[in-house]
Amino acid sequence: MKKNQITIIGGGLAGLVSAIHLQVLGLDVTLIEKNKYPFHRVCGEYISNEVKPYLTQLGISLAHLDFKEINNFRLTTLDNKSIKSKLSLGGFGISRYKLDHFLYEHAKRLGVQFIFDQVLHFSFEQNKFTIQTKKNQFTSNILICAYGKRSNLDAQLQRKFFQKKTSWMGIKAHYKLPEFPNDLVELHNFEGGYCGLSKVEEDYINCCYLIKTEQFQKSKNFDELEKQVLRKNRYLADFFDHAQITFKDRIAISQVSFESKSCIENQAVMIGDSAGLIHPLCGNGMAMAIHSAKLASEAVIDYQKHKNRKLMNQSFTNSWRKNFNQRLFFGGIFQQILLQPKLTNLALNLVGNSEYLLQQLIKRTHGKPIG
Ligand SMILES: Cc1cc2nc3c(=O)[nH]c(=O)nc-3n(C[C@H](O)[C@H](O)[C@H](O)COP(=O)(O)OP(=O)(O)OC[C@H]3O[C@@H](n4cnc5c(N)ncnc54)[C@H](O)[C@@H]3O)c2cc1C
Repeated sequence: MKKNQITIIGGGLAGLVSAIHLQVLGLDVTLIEKNKYPFHRVCGEYISNEVKPYLTQLGISLAHLDFKEINNFRLTTLDNKSIKSKLSLGGFGISRYKLDHFLYEHAKRLGVQFIFDQVLHFSFEQNKFTIQTKKNQFTSNILICAYGKRSNLDAQLQRKFFQKKTSWMGIKAHYKLPEFPNDLVELHNFEGGYCGLSKVEEDYINCCYLIKTEQFQKSKNFDELEKQVLRKNRYLADFFDHAQITFKDRIAISQVSFESKSCIENQAVMIGDSAGLIHPLCGNGMAMAIHSAKLASEAVIDYQKHKNRKLMNQSFTNSWRKNFNQRLFFGGIFQQILLQPKLTNLALNLVGNSEYLLQQLIKRTHGKPIG
């Protein structure tokens, strides 16, 4: 049985960045990912600039990635209100297909060991983890779980959120529309959800929406759904009328849950969406995933000195709560509003009439630059 110093389950942004952080500091990291890079994910692909100083510190230069700098935000409502606002910190647009693959190549060059396999379960006994994958078994001193929103491992851990059925689905595709501005991220409200539009590399436009499952089930397919529901927002109707889809079909995920989760499970450190997902309306999930990778890596580095697991788990939990609880709280309020169409319209009308309110909303769900 192979013995690992540090094992990370899941190679999305949280897992990859944590692997890079720990490997840069001289630790031996093994990352287990069930999919082969590159691959597309359901994600709005707008990343807050708050992550840039930290990525630079880790020696990750995004300069060659042809990302789009995004500094403007537009919100539209079902009754055709549209409001634009400057994004004070701003962000950038890059596909997860390209970004995750780039980080994977970077981590591999640093010496991170990648295993492409699915983890079936893990246990903790006598101060070490035993990790069972489809093809192999490993032991590890430290285990970081970065396996995303929902995984077979949540069932094994009997996590509370996993028992509840959730009502949200995420759907995404890339499009081309020459006149779409490079520096703009748009959020369009429709009945039972909202849709984000923003550019990524090679002038592709990411169109990603979150929708209530019951709303989706009323339609036979994506075309019908977009025709019957999304196009009722005239800005989206205009987009779908003129833009060309470049994916064979949309990709989708179901059972998207925003329930609170614990950031330590069976002594494993949980990061990224495994520890908690902010409502995509906030456009901050990727920055949170990267930031939580930093917090976990720092806690693991400390553990190498004092070898006190309880202390590591406690300090990680404290820093996670300190950094993210407020954002999740506001994300939760927006979620509540979005669950009730009348309230959604009222709130969006209110926000839609005030650039100041809109900026406050953005501020409360975003962090400061991470360094
Ligand atoms: C509709 C929608 C739109 C969004 N838009 C935005 C946006 O515009 N901006 C933003 O900042 N955030 C956005 N988010 C949130 C963002 O996508 C996530 O917060 C982010 O991807 C979390 O990264 P992660 O590394 O935690 O998880 P992921 O990126 O999901 O990575 C988890 C990895 O774990 C692997 N895995 C799972 N189980 C196993 C297993 N058992 N064994 C091995 N590997 C496993 C998976 O294959 C996957 O590669 C959006 C989310 C949704 C749902």
